[in-house]
Amino acid sequence: MSSYQIALLPGDGIGPETMDATRIIFDRVASAFPRLQLNLTSHRAGAELYRETGETLPRAVLDDCLAADAVLLAAIGLPDVRQPDGTEVQPTMMVGLRRALGLHSAVRPVKLFRGAPCPLRDVGAGIDFVIIRENLEGLFASFGGGSLVGNEVATDTLVVTREGTTKVVDYAFQLARRRGGRPSDGKRRVTCVDKANVFRSFAFFRQVFQDVAQSYPDIESDAIYVDAMSLYMVQNPSDFDVLVMENQFGDILSDLGAGIVGGLGLGPSGEIGQEHALFQPSHGTAPQIAGQNIANPLATILSAAMMLDWLGQKHEDHECSSAAIAIENAVAAVLEAGEALTPDIGGKASTTEVAQAVSAALTSPNIAASTA
Ligand code: ATP
Repeated sequence: MSSYQIALLPGDGIGPETMDATRIIFDRVASAFPRLQLNLTSHRAGAELYRETGETLPRAVLDDCLAADAVLLAAIGLPDVRQPDGTEVQPTMMVGLRRALGLHSAVRPVKLFRGAPCPLRDVGAGIDFVIIRENLEGLFASFGGGSLVGNEVATDTLVVTREGTTKVVDYAFQLARRRGGRPSDGKRRVTCVDKANVFRSFAFFRQVFQDVAQSYPDIESDAIYVDAMSLYMVQNPSDFDVLVMENQFGDILSDLGAGIVGGLGLGPSGEIGQEHALFQPSHGTAPQIAGQNIANPLATILSAAMMLDWLGQKHEDHECSSAAIAIENAVAAVLEAGEALTPDIGGKASTTEVAQAVSAALTSPNIAASTA
C-alpha cells in the first residue's frame, strides 16, 4: 500500500470546474487501484483570494505545498484582478511558487491523440514529442527586476547558469531514456533549441548542453535555432523526440506545440525539481467560459496522470505508474470514440460528462489490460 499527500489548488475561472472533473477521476482511481492511496487537500489561492484578502498564496498554503508529495494546480489569475502596479497576480504567484519549490524543469508533452483536432495537413508518422523548458532562469530570471530609465529605455537581463542549464538538460536526457524515441524512426534524440549564432548566453547554453550530452552516449543529440524550430514543428513534427530550451523560448514554443495537437484544452504540463513537483494544464483561467460547465477538463486530467507517473517513478511504485497509464489510456479512448468532447474540440459534452466518460473508460477491461 502506498500513500501520497497531494495539495490541490483549483484557483480561478475554469480552474475549479476542471479540478472537480479531475476529482471524479481520482475517485475512480481509488476504486480501481486499491493499493494506491491519494490524500487530497484542497486550498484557496489565486486572484479571487487576492481580491478578498490581498493575498494570492497564504503562507499556510505554501507550507502545505512544500510538505506535499506533489501539487496539482488547475488555473490561476483573472484579468480584472490587478496588483497596485497594474500587473496580474498570476505571474507573481507562479514565479514565487516555482522559486519556493525549486522547479527547474517544465515539461510539456506535445502528443496528438487519435480523434483530437489537428490543424496540420500532414503529420507524417504522428506527433509525440516533449518540450522541456528551463523554468527558473533565462529571461524570467529578470522577473521582478529589470530597469526603466526615465521614460525612454527599459531593460531585462537574460540569465543562463551552468548549474541551471545542467539540471534541465540532464532531465531532458533522462526523459529521453524512458521514451520510445521520435515517431518517424524511433530514434532517441534530445535537441537543444537556442539562438547560439547571435547571443553569448545561448552559445553558453549550447556548450553546457554538449557537455551534458557526453554522459548520454546512448541518446543522439543535436541543436537547432529557435526560429527554424518553430518552422520544423509545423512542417516535420514527427522528427522530434525531446526538445530542451531556455525559459522564454519554452514559453512560446509550448503554446505552438499545444496548437498543433488540439489546443490548450488538451495540453498538460509538469514542473519538476529535485524534491518537489507541480502539475497543471497549459491553459489559463478562460474567464469567458467559466461557470458554464463547458471547459475541457482533459488537460487537467492528463496533468494528474503526469503527476502519478512522476510519483510512480520517484518512489518506484508500480501501482502508481499503472494508474498514470490507465488515465492516459482512458483519455485516449474517449477522444478516439469522439462521443464525449467539449465544444473547444468540436463536441457538445459538458465538463462533467467528459470526466464521467474518462472515469467509465478507466475501468473498462481493455484499459486495465493494457496497463498490466
Ligand atoms: P493566461 O494568460 O491565464 O494563460 P490566456 O488568456 O492566455 O490565459 P486561456 O485562459 O488559457 O488563455 O484561454 C484562451 C482561450 O482558450 C479561452 O478564452 C478559451 O476560449 C480557450 N480555452 C483555454 N482553455 C480551455 C479549456 N480548458 N476548455 C475550453 N476552452 C479553453
